[in-house]
Amino acid sequence: MTTNGNVSFWYAEDGLPAPRPALAGDLEVDVAIVGAGYTGLWSAYYLAKADPSLRIAVLESRFAGFGASGRNGGWLANTITGGRDGYVKSHGRALVGDFQRMLNDTVDEVIKVAADEGIDAHVNKGGELLVARNPAQLGRLEAMAAEQLRWPEDDAVRLSAAATRERINVAGALGSMHIPHCARIHPAKLVRGLAEAVERRGVTIYENTLVTEINAGASGAPAAAVTERGTVRAAHILRATEGFTANLAGAHRDWLPMNSSMIVTEPLDAGTWEQIGWEGCETLEDFAHAYVYLQRTADGRIAIGGRGVPYRFGSRTDMDGATQPKTIKALTGILHEMFPAAGGARIEHAWSGVLGVPRDWRATVNYDPATGLGFAGGYVGTGVTATNLAGRTLTDLVLGRDTKATVMPWVNRTVRRWEPEPVRWLGVQGMYAMYHRADAQERDGRAATAPIARLADLVSGR
Ligand SMILES: Cc1cc2nc3c(=O)[nH]c(=O)nc-3n(C[C@H](O)[C@H](O)[C@H](O)COP(=O)(O)OP(=O)(O)OC[C@H]3O[C@@H](n4cnc5c(N)ncnc54)[C@H](O)[C@@H]3O)c2cc1C
Repeated sequence: MTTNGNVSFWYAEDGLPAPRPALAGDLEVDVAIVGAGYTGLWSAYYLAKADPSLRIAVLESRFAGFGASGRNGGWLANTITGGRDGYVKSHGRALVGDFQRMLNDTVDEVIKVAADEGIDAHVNKGGELLVARNPAQLGRLEAMAAEQLRWPEDDAVRLSAAATRERINVAGALGSMHIPHCARIHPAKLVRGLAEAVERRGVTIYENTLVTEINAGASGAPAAAVTERGTVRAAHILRATEGFTANLAGAHRDWLPMNSSMIVTEPLDAGTWEQIGWEGCETLEDFAHAYVYLQRTADGRIAIGGRGVPYRFGSRTDMDGATQPKTIKALTGILHEMFPAAGGARIEHAWSGVLGVPRDWRATVNYDPATGLGFAGGYVGTGVTATNLAGRTLTDLVLGRDTKATVMPWVNRTVRRWEPEPVRWLGVQGMYAMYHRADAQERDGRAATAPIARLADLVSGR
């Protein structure tokens, strides 16, 4: 029997963390952080490190690591959310190059802090492998290879079909791109270890404490985070609620909560691994419009994720990761297509989580000294690394430091909001229906990208 939900497979081995106390009444601190995922915890970590005298409280509605940070695919990648080209237009090529290098370095920063803090997050820096599985996907791979000539910062290498299969024997692979700036991690071990590391630095995490409203500070009065258990007043309040942001008063249409779903096999036997290869433990993705992302886990399983039910009407979010049987079947089908050798492996666990999608599909780090309010998020599916840089950037902004991080293109942006319902729901359903149709046409032999996918790009506003 496949376990369905229970937050995620990543908690199956160690169990959910022991609950921390909830807020017990009104409180005054220097910095309050709403949300204990990677964004909130990295912000707390660097703030506490920069100024140990700061009183810092993290307010979390369930438990630290309950959100995407405890459920993701474990790709610690160097991706700039939403791509680089849009920022070139607004900020110039040189700064975007700096941004890319900063994200490359951030992969190593996460690995270093994990080592320094004694967090065993199953890190393996084997890079990421993006594989084309049909002729239309190969066209997009070639386009990416051409783009890489303009972005040597990625250090990407184009691999032939044979060289691809030598690394990972993906059935039907026609070629791939290898980007070295990526590591496989165990998401829940990272977030659990990080929560413990911030506590060691004197930060208090209040769990089972839902923030319903965040109010700006004004004329000397501090900002306030309102909860059912009391109000927390602070000179600075940072919102780090990502896919759950729509639940906060006044933020309903800021970021669309998009679902991503995953399944994991039982550990595969040595004979199966011999057929598959994958000794480098690269993270793996294809070039489908509704792409899949995979990792080989430290204990020899394959975890594969992709888009299931993309979005629920009215920005509702699921609570425990339960996943529709249809989605489990679809992901299992793709797994078998890619790795026939794993066809007999039991699917042990399925789960889902929400990510935050801004209207322009690009992440943002904002802080306003006049109100004391800041936030970071909207990483779509690429926040595992970016959250660390966001946490360091928020630290600099709160402390009033002008640094290389605070001038990056994602800082202090204004993004338009999503359309009201039912337009929002119809738009997302339509977009993914078109992407799935395009993928099916390309799987059936269409040689070039299906036009319907370009229409979907237009609808999505990417
Ligand atoms: C299935 C899946 C696979 C993914 N795979 C990858 C990947 O491989 N690589 C990658 O880079 N990215 C991936 N992502 C995205 C990545 O996980 C996220 O970008 C990242 O974890 C975001 O961290 P966060 O702290 O901003 O948000 P979250 O981890 O979602 O944390 C937000 C926290 O805020 C709390 N909260 C929300 N509202 C309130 C409130 N009102 N009051 C108090 N607390 C509140 C929540 O309970 C939660 O703990 C994936 C996401 C999913 C769902």
